[in-house]
Amino acid sequence: MSTKFLFKNAQLQDGTFADIEVTGDLISAIGVGLLSEGAEVIDSTGLIALPGFVDLHTHLREPGFEQSETVLTGTQAAAMGGYTAVHAMANTSPVADTAGVVEQVAALGREAGYVDVLPIGAVTVGLEGKQMAELGAMANSKAKVKVFSDDGKCVHDPVIMRRALEYVKAFDGVIAQHAQEPRLTEGAQMNEGAVSAELGLAGWPAVAEESIIARDVLLAEHVNSRVHICHLSTAGSVEIVRWAKARGIKVTAEVTPHHLLLTDELVRSYNAVYKVNPPLRTQKDVLALREALIDGTIDVIGTDHAPHPIEAKDCEWNAAAFGMLGLETAASIAQEVLIESGKSNWARFAEVMSTKPAEIAGDVEVGQELEIGSVANIAFIDPAAKRTIVAESASKSINNPYVGMQLPGRVLHTVYRGYLTVRDGVLASKGRN
Ligand SMILES: [Zn+2]
Repeated sequence: MSTKFLFKNAQLQDGTFADIEVTGDLISAIGVGLLSEGAEVIDSTGLIALPGFVDLHTHLREPGFEQSETVLTGTQAAAMGGYTAVHAMANTSPVADTAGVVEQVAALGREAGYVDVLPIGAVTVGLEGKQMAELGAMANSKAKVKVFSDDGKCVHDPVIMRRALEYVKAFDGVIAQHAQEPRLTEGAQMNEGAVSAELGLAGWPAVAEESIIARDVLLAEHVNSRVHICHLSTAGSVEIVRWAKARGIKVTAEVTPHHLLLTDELVRSYNAVYKVNPPLRTQKDVLALREALIDGTIDVIGTDHAPHPIEAKDCEWNAAAFGMLGLETAASIAQEVLIESGKSNWARFAEVMSTKPAEIAGDVEVGQELEIGSVANIAFIDPAAKRTIVAESASKSINNPYVGMQLPGRVLHTVYRGYLTVRDGVLASKGRN
């Protein structure tokens, strides 16, 4: 590709202003007052330029659940949200537990051309928790899988968890755990607490998450391996991760946008758009998660983007599926928590949305600092924009819990490998292929 762009006068994450020149798929110059022959000039005054976002936790649903999402529609939603890479969870049908399936998912991503699609491999065969999947074959496949997870389900058997943690050390892989003690959460419908007692819905207690996290950080320490905890949702989980990090255990942690903003009070509406796993917790938990994201106890924001068709959500609470959309709104919630709060800054924003997820997953060419010679993956945010969230979406599903809410900021342009996947807030009709 011979396209050349000059983004004029953008604000960088450190607060300085610069022009960014993109030639082909690389950042070819960054500086003040650049003149670039033959480049299309895009005035970026008032915009923040950040490394394109990297999601560690996306459900793209293909193969098998194309009525909810496809790799194409999911990656289009990702591009609209400022992402240039997503890690695709393994709970597809067939499950991504072989080299063949992970290579298929990666190929669908390349064909779509909107973001890098980096498949996550299942830890156990069929997500059944009984037999370890062929992690080595997936790691050695063309998809080069480094992150493994049974997400949606917990790797409950401590012997399998231990073996998986030991196994991935050979290639610096990581096990991403969906921490949910299954017996303590049988039939659970929402957070266990005052609201569940009032509504008479079966509770999902905080201890079911915290007990697995405590076990797994100790297992990671025992075998000196890396564990990543998906979607922390309780104040107690934060305390355990904080303790483990202070002790030198190789643990990283993620929080979803919805756990940073929404609480179990919303369940009083019985609107199943608020049904999610782990469940929305209390305001006290939200505040603890926000503080942990700011102080570094929590490393990244992962969306847990979980599309579902209307019939799986527009029904009685107990019958509805767990999960909500997240890719197109994550940056606004990060801005709300880190910037609008006055408690953090754009440098931290770039870490939690881009560079740190890439580092945890061992990604190359995405989640890089904006520097000369880096692959041109850039998100341009208009931080002054205010938008009322609408149901219309690039995703194939509409289970968006923020509809009607006003959120700060808007992704105006997304540059993916030098190609404008999103321009002035509008999706390119075709990916970079
Ligand atoms: Zn999960």
